[in-house]
Amino acid sequence: MLDVCLLGTAGMMPLKNRFLTSLYTEYQGSGFLIDCGEGTQVALSYHGLKMSRITYILITHAHADHISGLPGLLLSIGNNGRTAPVTVVYPESAEYCIKALLTVCGELPYEIVLQPTSDSEPHAFNAKEISPDLRIRSMPVSHTVPCVGYSAILNRRPVFIPEKAKALGVPVDKWKELHSGNSVTLDNGKVVTTENVIGSPRKPLKLTYVTDSLPLPEIAALATDSDLFICEGMYGDTSKKKSMNEKGHMLMQDACGLAAAAGVRRLWLTHFSPAVKEPQIYAEELKELFQAVIVPEDGTKIQLK
Ligand SMILES: [Zn+2]
Ligand SMILES: [Zn+2]
Repeated sequence: MLDVCLLGTAGMMPLKNRFLTSLYTEYQGSGFLIDCGEGTQVALSYHGLKMSRITYILITHAHADHISGLPGLLLSIGNNGRTAPVTVVYPESAEYCIKALLTVCGELPYEIVLQPTSDSEPHAFNAKEISPDLRIRSMPVSHTVPCVGYSAILNRRPVFIPEKAKALGVPVDKWKELHSGNSVTLDNGKVVTTENVIGSPRKPLKLTYVTDSLPLPEIAALATDSDLFICEGMYGDTSKKKSMNEKGHMLMQDACGLAAAAGVRRLWLTHFSPAVKEPQIYAEELKELFQAVIVPEDGTKIQLK
């Protein structure tokens, strides 16, 4: 299962009651963060999350509201006792910015691994420091500077079914070996394989995060079948569509259209303009566009399973 927390929902600048847009996801005690605007370490602490577990930091683009919190967070991760490496992933053209921000960190008690991703084409890698079963995809979107969206896909192994092992006469002390993928030989010479004691294949868990972009059809392709799609919705006022799209942003309604096209299970909107004081007022009318939309508060959590 993936434990997900939307740390903040603000776009452009943090407000006194709204942290900047950032997402933290944890799997079996290690986590990845997407975006790191100013004050992200405060949001993590405020929502009761352990910074020392952050293993990957994924940056969408080099705008201040998505990146300027990096030095403070990296220092806080060190102060919270981490000694294992942290990998920072970012669009390749943002490398100068990442390196500049690192210069103010001084010596950190752990290694930073820089891992650029493509500005111009989709890319994928296994987040093996969290789990070999977790794959991260990045895809260029369309903003005023190079920007990428991310999907995280957790492949799930079929569950071990003790009743099957019992029925085949496998003693309990051999269950762990079977569960880890090895065959076992019973006293009577019979060989039992993992396939004999597991359930049917399970659908992977998928999470997609896209902010600061025009509503490109490719975003729906990236988000297809996501259990949770987190997407920018700067405004809910449709009269702002033209001006927002011209600035490389999208409306709540654009995000609902993408979610419907992608067939996602649920949509959380984020990156609200500071001018939108009560984004929740749009929730009911948005449901007509996409039923499973939520206009979340900061700190909204879910366990995907
Ligand atoms: Zn932004
Ligand atoms: Zn931006």
